[in-house]
Amino acid sequence: MSFCYGEILRRLGVGRENAERYDTVGFYYSPSNLGGCDRELYMQAKGLWSLAPGNRLLGIFRDGEAHEELTGSQLEKAGVRIVHAQKGCSLALPDNELIRSSRNIAGVSFHQCPVCGEALPSPCLHGHIDFVVQNPLTKRPEIIEHKAVNTHSWQATVERLTEQGGRGAWAHHTRYCVQLGLYLVSLSRQEGLPDAEGVLLMKDKNTAQFLDIRLRYEAPSDILRVVGAAVEGRSVMGEDGVFAVRGFMGHAVNKVMRIERAVRAPEERHMLRVPEAQCSSCAARTACRSEFHVPVEADTGETGLTVPATAEIASRMVEMKRLKDEIAALERRRDGIKSYLVSVLKTLAERENKAVSIVAAEEGLILSLRQWTRTDLDRTAYEALSAEEKAVVDKALKTTELQYPVVRRVPGPVKSPADTDPQ
Ligand code: SF4
Repeated sequence: MSFCYGEILRRLGVGRENAERYDTVGFYYSPSNLGGCDRELYMQAKGLWSLAPGNRLLGIFRDGEAHEELTGSQLEKAGVRIVHAQKGCSLALPDNELIRSSRNIAGVSFHQCPVCGEALPSPCLHGHIDFVVQNPLTKRPEIIEHKAVNTHSWQATVERLTEQGGRGAWAHHTRYCVQLGLYLVSLSRQEGLPDAEGVLLMKDKNTAQFLDIRLRYEAPSDILRVVGAAVEGRSVMGEDGVFAVRGFMGHAVNKVMRIERAVRAPEERHMLRVPEAQCSSCAARTACRSEFHVPVEADTGETGLTVPATAEIASRMVEMKRLKDEIAALERRRDGIKSYLVSVLKTLAERENKAVSIVAAEEGLILSLRQWTRTDLDRTAYEALSAEEKAVVDKALKTTELQYPVVRRVPGPVKSPADTDPQ
């Protein structure tokens, strides 16, 4: 019988050396998990569920680390100065009774990191930054968080970015964005920078293509923004792509407190926030179903009389909720397509120096760009003003430029541009 290398790797576990470090201190809030679902964090904090990586998962971790090491050496070869790799990061948490008495916080339940050995004397979010590099252009320090993913996930991320801009990246990879965001908070605090930038560098493991998703943290206003995305130099960020999370660090601290409050008063646990779209692929869903048997939205927290729904009303409520979700999903999809078509038409118009229509001959459709401006003004009130007052209003008026891709069906046979080409 032939020898199967894959079989011994699966049985012995290529990542066995990593297993111990996941066992040493148990669960604690960290930059890498704080972007996860409230319920998942609650179950881990209560010890009801834990991510116990088997050999296969440990193998995936190790595989990711190998890609990360390779990318690090390639960056250095390309002339990027790596200031630190796997740098310990400790983000101080406020002094609060819930935090001080938690069993789930680095610097409270344990005082030395089992991975990097860093001393942790006070409550913090502790994690490890893949790379702190010197930006070759600005010479400022910035962070690279490396993620090696499969082709499906990589392409889905690029599509989301193209269709929905930064909002799409955030929705698709909240956990990664929060992780990088927290590292950026720590970089800005450590270096005394008013803002700090970093990149989620996503590698398609199958094609070795790289996607940069650039985030910026602005310390004075506590805002985290997704500011750009590019595949190897080509922007893939859809129109209106910049997405901002206001009060970013404040939200992170609130999340820890919200979960710790629920840990101490489990009857409150159904008030924890639930993601809309991650449950089907969640490793904790079996434990979640048995722990959260209460309906997610049963208690709205609103005052007033609550009465049970009749079967008729309940079915309409379900239908209403389903339609609302479907329409919201369709609208998101339409907005993404709209942005894409507008950017294609604008690029062509710029190149040709005139308006351009695109013909889909087989489908019998023509695409063109409709543009208009909108100024919200009460004409009657405006006409009643004096010349000086009108001048003030004119100065304060906001005119919005609107663009919409119009797809029309062309009656009768349609000629493609190639058919009409004089050549
Ligand atoms: S199944 Fe859904 S709600 Fe439950 S822990 Fe997972 S992501 Fe959260």
